[in-house]
Amino acid sequence: MNTGLPVFLDYNSTTPVDPYVLEAMLPYFTERYGNAASKTHAYGWIADEAVEIAREQAAVLIGAEKQEIVFTSGSTESINVALKGMMEMHGKSKNHIITSKTEHKAVLDTCAWLELHGAKITYLEVNRDGLIDLQHLNEAVNENTLMVSIMFANNETGVIQPVSEIGKLCREKGIYFFTDATQAAGKVRVDVNEQCIDLLCISSHKIYGPKGSGLLYVRRKEPRVAISPIIHGGGHEKGLRSGTVNVPAIAGFGKACELAANKWFEEGQRFSQLRTKLEQALTDEGAAFINGSTRNRLPSTTNLCFKNVSSAEFIRMFPQLAVAAGSACTSSDNKPSHVLRAMGLTDKESQSSIRFSIGRFTKEEEIEFAVSLIRNKLKEISI
Ligand code: PLP
Repeated sequence: MNTGLPVFLDYNSTTPVDPYVLEAMLPYFTERYGNAASKTHAYGWIADEAVEIAREQAAVLIGAEKQEIVFTSGSTESINVALKGMMEMHGKSKNHIITSKTEHKAVLDTCAWLELHGAKITYLEVNRDGLIDLQHLNEAVNENTLMVSIMFANNETGVIQPVSEIGKLCREKGIYFFTDATQAAGKVRVDVNEQCIDLLCISSHKIYGPKGSGLLYVRRKEPRVAISPIIHGGGHEKGLRSGTVNVPAIAGFGKACELAANKWFEEGQRFSQLRTKLEQALTDEGAAFINGSTRNRLPSTTNLCFKNVSSAEFIRMFPQLAVAAGSACTSSDNKPSHVLRAMGLTDKESQSSIRFSIGRFTKEEEIEFAVSLIRNKLKEISI
């Protein structure tokens, strides 16, 4: 079907709702409309059952227990709760957080806010590959360190941090480890026990679920994580996130988690083949180079720096393609990406970089179309 819309190669910004997810959601808008907190009648019980099924589906995706899942409105909220809630609970005795310069703005801006309220934050550098240095992390820990907040996979480059090693180091030092797994969950193996993760966030709309839904994983034992709420009210979600739960969205998010748990491995292999096709065609004659590690990254993402064309020109030149310069949240301000700058790219290189991210509904023909379009145009320009 030709919709007249550009080919969507921006799956890291958001994803379409999977048809199975939509099907799972629909009854909860109409006949099953109860409030999951209503304990006195079947409408409430039915809604609550849907939420509990989703909680189990979400827990399975990350190897957690169902009681460790707190539903939120998405990763931005989960990140705010993880960082502010931990500081609120423990900040009087330990007020130091270690993070990295390439985190999503939701982490960086929350850390900046916490700094204004007495927290000490260390921002770790990354190398040219986009990876933090474990030695630097080790050296940054001091007696006031409460937690480490390092993302699992970067939204702009797809680079995956050494999460298991970070988790192990944190466990040995007795500090908490929070990871923003928004881009990783459902795309690579995420296991909170194997990887020694204490807190973690996922967003539904990045894994073919509806927007406005997500979760915070909070470890219950070894160690038990005590955390304060930042939203107060009716005591929903065991008091950690008050507010009537969004039953249709949660039912959809749960289904999305179930699909992701079953599909991520095979999908990853397909994405990786499509990405190789795209990368080889665009880099073989030296028109572009890949930003970030090519060994440790998501199979679905590539960030390419074009030598003779700025990102803004690229976007204008190819209205047939939906791609991103930087992340969706910052795509309007046209500043060089803080992620690419932290990796040592110049302003010019950062402003000549494009993120391509593929997903469940990307077809091989779409990649072929993008490749021939870009190659032909770039040839024209260089003549
Ligand atoms: N963290 C990362 C790595 C992301 O990519 C995003 C979304 O772009 C977020 C956090 C924020 O997620 P949400 O849209 O659910 O608030």
